Amino acid sequence: MAALPEDRIMATLHAAASGAPGEPEKIHVQCCVAGGGPAGMMLGFLLARAGVSVAVLEKHGDFLRDFRGDTIHPSTLELMHELGFLDEFLKLPHEEVTELGGRLGNTQVMIADFRHVPTHCRFIAFMPQWDFLNFLAEKARSLPGFQLRMKAEVKDLIEQNGRVIGVFAETPNGPLEVHADLVVGCDGRHSTVRARAGFQVEDLGAPMDILWMRLSRSAEDPPQTLGYFNRGHIMVMLNRGDSWQCGFVIPKGHADEMRKQPIESFRNQIVEMAPFTRDRVSELKDWDAVKLLSVSVDRLRTWHRSGLLCIGDAAHTMSPIGGVGINLAIQDAVATANLLAVPLRSGTLTEQDLEKVQQRREFPTRFTQRLQVLIQNRIIGKVLASSEQLAPPWPLRLFNAFPVLRRIPARMIGVGVRPEHVKVAAATAVSPRA
Ligand SMILES: Cc1cc2nc3c(=O)[nH]c(=O)nc-3n(C[C@H](O)[C@H](O)[C@H](O)COP(=O)(O)OP(=O)(O)OC[C@H]3O[C@@H](n4cnc5c(N)ncnc54)[C@H](O)[C@@H]3O)c2cc1C
Repeated sequence: MAALPEDRIMATLHAAASGAPGEPEKIHVQCCVAGGGPAGMMLGFLLARAGVSVAVLEKHGDFLRDFRGDTIHPSTLELMHELGFLDEFLKLPHEEVTELGGRLGNTQVMIADFRHVPTHCRFIAFMPQWDFLNFLAEKARSLPGFQLRMKAEVKDLIEQNGRVIGVFAETPNGPLEVHADLVVGCDGRHSTVRARAGFQVEDLGAPMDILWMRLSRSAEDPPQTLGYFNRGHIMVMLNRGDSWQCGFVIPKGHADEMRKQPIESFRNQIVEMAPFTRDRVSELKDWDAVKLLSVSVDRLRTWHRSGLLCIGDAAHTMSPIGGVGINLAIQDAVATANLLAVPLRSGTLTEQDLEKVQQRREFPTRFTQRLQVLIQNRIIGKVLASSEQLAPPWPLRLFNAFPVLRRIPARMIGVGVRPEHVKVAAATAVSPRA
């Protein structure tokens, strides 16, 4: 186990110094993480566990937001196992899904079978993301050197001689300056950090947006999370216990046009896809109950600058296809902690260290995005453009004919390319924070 430079942690932690009234509050840490999503919370936790002083700044007051994905993949569950949390984690309410499929026209197609993935948990856990993030936050809060600042929105970078040395943030109590050896942008697809850093973004395009809404769920409904594809429409329904979180996929840019129609015509489209919702679509009283989520797929050419790194969606925005974005963000966080904890702790971090993170994570990112773009263009785009009753194309029919083939997408979705493992040791000799 790594010995902890406890004096350094305590010094940085308690160096939090508020100036005179009206002056910004200033804190000094070794790493400042902008954004408390899956990437940011996992990175904050792992670095603090390794003895690095970390401040995670999250702009919202809680993690309770509907548009978050709910998929915890076998590879993330494996990380929970490596950290010794798996049993405790699986006590949180969740749904274990061993197979994924969908309905194309009138045909049910099974596409992925997770019962053979090489991990302890051979299923995807569907769990509200706020439960997952609260769990990580709880674990992290028990570590000295960790602080999570909610309602702290990063507005800009602090730079000195071309090097990023911290961030300016806004909080309900006034401005906050966080000075750090490293700033990590984990602030998602609309990242302020990447915009302020002036990073170049390569846009891969997405032909769709998603209308996101909630319908109540009854005991007689199908138990599984469901995907429906038919005649110009795609709908995904995620089982959230007493409700369905529904994602209705529409061609990019069509939301305004749809909203000009009466809500009844949208309700009818939902019932056509999932007839069992007939008795409750009226819960969508008007268009205010339906939120638009814009889908994009892009990536940074370079993920780092001196003193700054972006990971997760901030470095590479993922499409919802395959529900792999959270997983990839978490894998980035693990790789970052594995590669940077020691140089951060010893104060020897260089830009070459940051480059190693991009080198490690760029191939899985490119590979996964390529698959997503392929599916977007070959399947999603075609379904959205069709006015005919759909039948599964022959590659999908193969999955029904040869169930063994379902192991391949399961591996790609559940574990992905180049899975990461927790390699950085937990620091010892830390006196818990009062
Ligand atoms: C409609 C839709 C559905 C999706 N469904 C799934 C799914 O089911 N499964 C899946 O794996 N992936 C899904 N994805 C992709 C997934 O949401 C992302 O890939 C994943 O959330 C990336 O995690 P992250 O931590 O990098 O960023 P995010 O999850 O976006 O987290 C960023 C965090 O930073 C905070 N933040 C933003 N700006 C600031 C700021 N300036 N200062 C401080 N904090 C800030 C945000 O509040 C947020 O908490 C979906 C994407 C879309 C568009």
